[in-house]
Amino acid sequence: MIRCNLTILGATGTIGINTLDVVAMHPERYTVVALTGQNQVERLATQCRQFKPRYAVVTDTARAQELRHLLADTETEVLCGERALEEVASLPEVDTVMAAIVGAAGLKPALAAARAGKRILLANKETLVMAGRFFMQAVRRGGATLLPIDSEHNAVFQCMPEPYSGDFATHGVRRILLTASGGPFRTRPIETLATVTPDEAVAHPNWVMGRKISVDSATMMNKGLEVIEAHWLFNARADQIEVVIHPQSIVHSMVEYMDGSVLAQLSNPDMRTPIAHALAYPDRIEAGVPWLDLPRLGQLSFETPDTRRFPCLALAYRALETGGAAPTVLNAANEVAVQAFLDRRIPYPAIAQTLERCLDRLGDRPAEELDALVALDQESRAYTAALIAQHA
Ligand code: NDP
Ligand code: MG
Repeated sequence: MIRCNLTILGATGTIGINTLDVVAMHPERYTVVALTGQNQVERLATQCRQFKPRYAVVTDTARAQELRHLLADTETEVLCGERALEEVASLPEVDTVMAAIVGAAGLKPALAAARAGKRILLANKETLVMAGRFFMQAVRRGGATLLPIDSEHNAVFQCMPEPYSGDFATHGVRRILLTASGGPFRTRPIETLATVTPDEAVAHPNWVMGRKISVDSATMMNKGLEVIEAHWLFNARADQIEVVIHPQSIVHSMVEYMDGSVLAQLSNPDMRTPIAHALAYPDRIEAGVPWLDLPRLGQLSFETPDTRRFPCLALAYRALETGGAAPTVLNAANEVAVQAFLDRRIPYPAIAQTLERCLDRLGDRPAEELDALVALDQESRAYTAALIAQHA
């Protein structure tokens, strides 16, 4: 058994909490070196009291002061700012980094972990969507190890041959089949989607997740981002990745081989399974997840997604096929549009409409430099915000 020194970026989020839940079950294996959060200072303080990390990080000065006050009688040192996120992701004493910040804010710390050659448990899919080429390059150059946390990609990782060379043909792999639950609006009459509320959109039938990713599940943009994520993680072309709706969320994804075999990974829909898999890899540890009871489930069903119902999925394929910076533009526009929907500034169908207009305007830009991508991310956000202002 290898002891593991962990930094958890985004410890106060859904993935962070689930990670600490698994870590708490195996105190002999894991030492928590750093925990980070953003707004939930009290939760972060409670986590620090339980796991006794050397560092705790928040990005805002006032919140850092509050956290220092809450942790005054402990050994935990409170650091502040975006640079501090990069620092705790690359500390020499840390070997494993859980990258679970939501959105584009997760990119720089994940890159820092890659450059420092860490074992990265990657939940923040936006890192790959925004800057996949640069991130994968940093992983290779830094000698980092990448283990996917996203349940679909973790499933694909488990169904791929080991070691996977990055070449489908070498291993006789034909396609990746990514499963999707279809979210809360899978069977709702399409004409009624214009009036759905944020609360209806975040009420996911199978998973409890952060609000942004829950809306992404309703629009199936989440699956679209995952198609792009799979492209980078497994070196798969758009036409080698198929999305299959599977409402029960038991089969988390599949790999199809040339001889007709399809390998699948099944488990209850609980993120502690992929988290425990990646934390312990190549060992296996208990995750606290109930055992799968297939007879009780009775049926597993599959359908093809309808892109009239889920236009965001088609937009993601379009961005992947366009290549260059199109996925960066899509991801940035999506973050802004989803927030506007959550704030009730735009109706649900306007999310996809806004993304399409943003891709039309900015989607054909090249992606030569990381700095240019970050600038384009900002430009896409500003353009999307301007489009949204027209709705007001
Ligand atoms: P949450 O919104 O629950 O948590 C996000 C975390 O990031 C919190 O710790 C939050 O801090 C922190 N954070 C937010 N904004 C910033 C910022 N600007 N700078 C620094 N930290 C910040 O999200 P999830 O845990 O659901 O998702 C995390 C990532 O994992 C996402 O990329 C998501 O796509 C991916 N993922 C999630 C899955 C899930 O089941 N939840 C499944 C697969 C992937 P605070 O809460 O203190 O404000
Ligand atoms: Mg997923």
